[in-house]
Amino acid sequence: MNLENKKLQCKKCLYDTNHPLGILLDEHGICSGCRIHEEKDTLDWKFRLDKLKKITSRYKSKKSNYDVIVPVNGSHDSYFIVHVVKNLLNLNPLLVCYNKYYNTSLGIHNLANLITKFNSDILFKNVNIKSVKKITKYTLVKYGNIYWHCLAGSTVFPVQVAEKFKIPLIIWGAHQGIEQVGMFSYKNEVEMTKRYRLNHDLFSVDPLDLVTPYNNITEEDIFQYIYPSFESINTIGIRGLYLNNFIRWDPKIQNEKMIKMYNFKNNIHSRTFDNHEYVDCFNYMNIHDLLKYYKFGYSKVTDQVVREIRFGRISKKKAELLVAYYQNQTPKYLGLFGEFLGINNQSLQYILSSFKKNFKIKKNDKPIINFSKKFTKNIDKNIVEKQYILFGKGA
Ligand SMILES: [Zn+2]
Repeated sequence: MNLENKKLQCKKCLYDTNHPLGILLDEHGICSGCRIHEEKDTLDWKFRLDKLKKITSRYKSKKSNYDVIVPVNGSHDSYFIVHVVKNLLNLNPLLVCYNKYYNTSLGIHNLANLITKFNSDILFKNVNIKSVKKITKYTLVKYGNIYWHCLAGSTVFPVQVAEKFKIPLIIWGAHQGIEQVGMFSYKNEVEMTKRYRLNHDLFSVDPLDLVTPYNNITEEDIFQYIYPSFESINTIGIRGLYLNNFIRWDPKIQNEKMIKMYNFKNNIHSRTFDNHEYVDCFNYMNIHDLLKYYKFGYSKVTDQVVREIRFGRISKKKAELLVAYYQNQTPKYLGLFGEFLGINNQSLQYILSSFKKNFKIKKNDKPIINFSKKFTKNIDKNIVEKQYILFGKGA
């Protein structure tokens, strides 16, 4: 049966019941994501931040220099998370970064500026590029996903570092299941789990699932992505907290603040109006976004307009026009990705189209928003992104 016929859309936002994270509609036709979003205006956020301060003060290290591990990259949330950890919680973080290899020069610059401005130490994880390419080729062909290694690496490396250095606290930004689909109430204060990582971040593909007799991936290629044991996590007491349970999470406002305070740099993307997010990556808003669109019938711009509708900054009608404009834009840098993986353009197009489902798609030729206008003026038009920066120490 065609899934299109069965889906029901929320009366307030653009999500429907086909959302891959799962969504529920109440008796008024409003989705769980919109309902949980209402808590942003009803909870006492000062009380919640004080609660977070109390929880985290117990992790102030007496022995070593680091109190907490903070996963970062050269994109949007990292500056805000480190800002909260250092300036509001008064903790000394060890920053950790998984190298996804699809780095833009702007992302490398943002990361270098981040560690300089916050005067922080950072650890990088560079999984050997041969394994990364083998894994990515396989996840692309089998699951239509080029981001598995990035998500697997960036969600496991912080936990591995916590285990190795016995630093039990990890602080993340937003829990996507809460922000997008209202999977939990903020009051539940859900924490990082191995299960959520597997079911949602890794779309139920465990590292060991990649080792099959039908490809050339071996255990040596995937051991870097394996989660520490429960025994180890329990012995050290490792826990991961999400800031959006304690701070009224608003990415637009936060990113603008980070531009002003720390000179975080944004950029213009091809398939969205939001200039702040994923600027560190060649592929997230391009080939990865195209695959999302092919498989699920919506792309990242829908997530972003839904967020803006809920904050009351745009109407549903305007959001629909924006989506119809941006989701049909041609993604950039497909050639670079093919070159990286050693796949020619024809084969890449064939693989991509094999994931295309027939969704009814509206089209619109005109963009109609000035999102974050004041902060678009600062975008450096001279930045020309030509090739992946495989590894960079930054400026
Ligand atoms: Zn909704």
